[in-house]
Amino acid sequence: MKKFDVLIIGTGMGGLVCGNILAKQGYTVCMVEKNKQLGGCLQIYVRNRVIFDSGVHYIGGLDKGQNLYQIFKWLGLMDELKLEKMDPDFDRIILDDDQKEYRFMQGYDAFEQEMILEFPAEEKAIRKYTKTMLEICDRFPLYRLRLQRGEEKQEAMGISAKKFIESITDNKKLQAVLAGNNMLYAGSGEATPFYIHALTVNSYIESAWRCLDGGSQISKILARNISNSGGQIIKNREVKKLNVEDGAVKTAELNDGSLIQADYFVSNTTPANTYRMTETNLIRSVTRKRIEAMPTTVSSFILNIVFKKDRVPYIKHNYYYQKTGSVWAMDDYAEKDWPLGYAIYCSPSVKKEFARGMTIFAYMRYDEVRSWETSFNTVSTKQDRGAEYEAFKNRKTEQLLNRVEEKFPGLKKSILHTYTSTPLTFRDYIGNEDGNLYGTAKDYRNPVGTLISPKTRIPNLFLTGQYLNLHGILGTAISGLITSIALTGKDDFIEKIRNA
Ligand SMILES: Cc1cc2nc3c(=O)[nH]c(=O)nc-3n(C[C@H](O)[C@H](O)[C@H](O)COP(=O)(O)OP(=O)(O)OC[C@H]3O[C@@H](n4cnc5c(N)ncnc54)[C@H](O)[C@@H]3O)c2cc1C
Repeated sequence: MKKFDVLIIGTGMGGLVCGNILAKQGYTVCMVEKNKQLGGCLQIYVRNRVIFDSGVHYIGGLDKGQNLYQIFKWLGLMDELKLEKMDPDFDRIILDDDQKEYRFMQGYDAFEQEMILEFPAEEKAIRKYTKTMLEICDRFPLYRLRLQRGEEKQEAMGISAKKFIESITDNKKLQAVLAGNNMLYAGSGEATPFYIHALTVNSYIESAWRCLDGGSQISKILARNISNSGGQIIKNREVKKLNVEDGAVKTAELNDGSLIQADYFVSNTTPANTYRMTETNLIRSVTRKRIEAMPTTVSSFILNIVFKKDRVPYIKHNYYYQKTGSVWAMDDYAEKDWPLGYAIYCSPSVKKEFARGMTIFAYMRYDEVRSWETSFNTVSTKQDRGAEYEAFKNRKTEQLLNRVEEKFPGLKKSILHTYTSTPLTFRDYIGNEDGNLYGTAKDYRNPVGTLISPKTRIPNLFLTGQYLNLHGILGTAISGLITSIALTGKDDFIEKIRNA
């Protein structure tokens, strides 16, 4: 039986970052990934020679000295990643009533100036918004690559994103614009805390980047680091069970029946899945029930388009569209009105003049695909979900394209091929139950109750990834830091990251 210091279940961003930090500290790390391709949401797929990302359309905080830059630099990513800085106006918000484009600029000065230009009577509100964003970000020490200090974030976690924005201005249009890219964090008016909005949007205002050649570059480099340090990556194998003896996990059992022994285990799959793998009364049934009942974020329908040659200009910004009045409840749609919002991301292209491909992303509730939930389809385990499912996807594609054509007439004529994914695609590839976008739905009304600790009741079993503190490439990288601190008790590497 193979023995390692640490076994990590899943090679998502959180697992890879945690594995890299532990490997740098001398631990031998084994990572087990159920898919053929590493990376979880970092996976890409290629159609008609166009790269489509599954979950890395753009990244923030990558200017020299900014938080993700420092983490990436320390992990050896910065010298190798092929990146492209986005336009100064990286996001454009479209409101359906005027079809105008409101621009989110990189850099706080530019951001404020542009918003004030659009809403001259709202200067005070706009300045309050940016000032509060920065103050809230400062309350989260690891986000600023400082060491944790006490309770400073508790208070900030109880503020509602929707209510805060409504408190600074009565101007409905400005409210809708400031919340305009909330698909980035599955913003819900009822629940989403302002800190989730602030930590996410701030990183893109700091700087916004696209991964040329896709987000899988990140997983490839981080996996190579593990192998170079004497660790091992096992692909195409699923961890099915964690065997607990004498109060600790002793072995992980894989779907081929093999056992791997380790001193520590880190799970990058969902907390509920992790607990289901353990049969032990160390985890009380009340804890299991709490974890099972935690609300998750909505899922999505993704339309990937390959364009006819030289038809659509290449753009280095994104679009976020919303139906008036729906920005905080875009998942609350009647089927006939779907979608109430969408996001558009242009696929990275080396030949800059024309776009080769584009991703259009809209919320979709898991309920819509429940009739096909007994099917399972990935590259390694292929299963046809049937003609009705194909018809469903075609209907949704048409509905989504019709909505997009309201703003971008003629787009349909430029399409060569379309490829789609639904909540079931994410469920099968990522290994969650409902294809949710970003893990646990944080709730300002119950901030601590919706926060998951990296530590479990089993002393050598830890959690990492987007279910913990924050989702996104930045959020899950930070989850990797948090988990490795919990496992080793050492945090001196944070200073090394800050000074990398
Ligand atoms: C549609 C979409 C768009 C996004 N766009 C962006 C974006 O533009 N920018 C951004 O910063 N973030 C974006 N995100 C969010 C970001 O991609 C995720 O938050 C992040 O990648 C999640 O990382 P994670 O560590 O939680 O692992 P995950 O990506 O959830 O990966 C978990 C891994 O564990 C594996 N696994 C699960 N169970 C087992 C098992 N039993 N045995 C072995 N392996 C197992 C899975 O196969 C998977 O590889 C997007 C997400 C989605 C869904």
